[in-house]
Amino acid sequence: MGANNTKAPAVFLDRDGTVIFDKNYLSSPEQVKLYSYAADSVNKLRAAGFKVIIVTNQSGVARGAFTERDLQKIHERFVFLLKKVGAKVDAIYYCPHIDEDSCGCRKPKPGMVLRGAKDFNIDLEKSYAVGDSVRDYLLGYNTGGKGVLVLTGRGKKQRKKIAQEKIKPMAVCKTLKEAANLIIKDAKKN
Ligand SMILES: [Zn+2]
Repeated sequence: MGANNTKAPAVFLDRDGTVIFDKNYLSSPEQVKLYSYAADSVNKLRAAGFKVIIVTNQSGVARGAFTERDLQKIHERFVFLLKKVGAKVDAIYYCPHIDEDSCGCRKPKPGMVLRGAKDFNIDLEKSYAVGDSVRDYLLGYNTGGKGVLVLTGRGKKQRKKIAQEKIKPMAVCKTLKEAANLIIKDAKKN
């Protein structure tokens, strides 16, 4: 990267229960349904100068619930639905593993964020991770940034687990919409 000082901040978004409705082991493109505010939230973040990157744990691959080819089709559908309403994300990364695989990419491990940082020259200290799971907000802190929990998807159940964690989220937000607004405000403070 050498003399390139133009590092961008990023928001690493969880997929299921954060940007699209949570289906247990979503396995076909027809099941992809965006939250009504998803496109606007993504657009707002990008307009504010953030890269927006989806990072999603997809252990259904390791468990045999669906294949990586299925996942590809699901993500094509996801990109198409966003495009239809005038939005896009910068990238989509997924981890196909289960905890027992001891990979480096299953959230809250940093693998997918580090890959994004490399691909997009990202300033991790100014970046955020958002999702409906404790794993999602921890990811932000594990990579030098901050994290937000949203209460959609599994968020309400996950919220109870925060008490057991040493690291607390920067905020607990009702939805991605609220999280996006908060992040844009927070970034201006720094
Ligand atoms: Zn992995």
